[in-house]
Amino acid sequence: AADGDFYDYLDTLTDAQVEVAGRVHAFMRAEVMPVMNEYWSRDEFPRDLIGKMRELNLLRAIWNEDGTRRPDATIMEGIITLEACRVDVSTAVFFGVHGGLAFASIALGGSEEQKKRWLPDMLDMRRIGAFGLTEPEGGSQVSEGMRTTCRRDGDGWVLNGEKKWIGNSTFSDFTVIWARDEETSEVRGFVVEAGTPGYSVEKIQGKIALRMVENGHITLQDCRVADEFRLQAVQGWDTVSDVLKLTRAGVAWQGVGCAMGAYELALAYAQQRKQFGKRIGEFQLVQNHLVLMLADVTAMLGMVTRLSHLADEGRMDDAHAALAKVHTAARCREVVARAREVFGGNGILLEHGVAKHFADTEAIYSYEGTNEINTLVVGRAVTGLSAFV
Ligand code: FAD
Repeated sequence: AADGDFYDYLDTLTDAQVEVAGRVHAFMRAEVMPVMNEYWSRDEFPRDLIGKMRELNLLRAIWNEDGTRRPDATIMEGIITLEACRVDVSTAVFFGVHGGLAFASIALGGSEEQKKRWLPDMLDMRRIGAFGLTEPEGGSQVSEGMRTTCRRDGDGWVLNGEKKWIGNSTFSDFTVIWARDEETSEVRGFVVEAGTPGYSVEKIQGKIALRMVENGHITLQDCRVADEFRLQAVQGWDTVSDVLKLTRAGVAWQGVGCAMGAYELALAYAQQRKQFGKRIGEFQLVQNHLVLMLADVTAMLGMVTRLSHLADEGRMDDAHAALAKVHTAARCREVVARAREVFGGNGILLEHGVAKHFADTEAIYSYEGTNEINTLVVGRAVTGLSAFV
């Protein structure tokens, strides 16, 4: 068992799941670990990792070629995310945006013909996707406040508006853009190819978290797309909501993986760092930090495992996913803070590893629905009363 897997969680997985977890584990250590601090410092995604990830063939462990999910898709996605985040959350986010948000948008919102056109290339990572929902003026309330518009114009559509924070969009082959129909007010989805006239992307600079993920600020100015690029099976906001429900479960796993990685780093450090002639792991207060971290990681792992089983049985609803996201993101924040503390001053140096987890947690905490928004989703479900306007 791994250090952070105190209850031998790996024993509960099938052989195929263990094999996938092992592949990701080895890849993260061999390919990502040696370069991640350099790219994190440079605010850049290591694009040659895409080719290496392609060889891992991970998406086919989650999705079928027709866009349906494999029977244990959510657990698979979870362990892939966990293993990636133990080393580097940015890598998991790159994968989650392409293989989760963008892929699910087409799988759930595309016609049979559109799925055949885009999904096989996405599965093999020959073409990379991004997901454009959030806007500069609206993250939490984007469902009601969406300002990006689409207008029918002859045999195509004209898109206008802005999208902010769009992961992978600086280098993706296309981005799924969500826009409101000027005439009917319905939410529609479009696959907008990079290079389409009127579509431009500027990289967001100066992030203090997930610096290896490239986030773009997209401007759509009279951007014209043919009707065949409109996702034909989208059912308004319900489709966006279904996509986010799936990916929120994945983000809940990010919190667990990030916390587990931070705990493991802190444990290793406590076993070798000496002060007052002793290893700091011999001090009771340091052991207290480690045990509290381990308890949180172990409890979170139980929570997301059960959540994923519910999802794979078709029984996960929005509130189930929201509760796990809100809880693991908040606990992760506490665990990484403790882990950083165990490192003393070295905890703020990139070279010791834990600082990256400490920073990345802040993004996990706020995206895919902030703490407050996910809390209100659960609050509404359990009370039957909505706090939303
Ligand atoms: P706001 O909505 O402005 O919220 C600000 C504060 O107000 C928060 O604390 C919030 O909880 C609180 N608040 C708002 N409404 C309420 C309420 N009713 N009650 C109580 N409190 C409330 N989006 C994409 O579309 N694609 C991506 O690929 C993507 N990647 C991202 C990557 C990163 C690193 C980050 C940081 C964000 C990404 N996002 C992406 C956007 C992300 O989903 C939003 O940032 C998130 O939904 C929050 O929206 P906001 O930042 O506009 O905050």
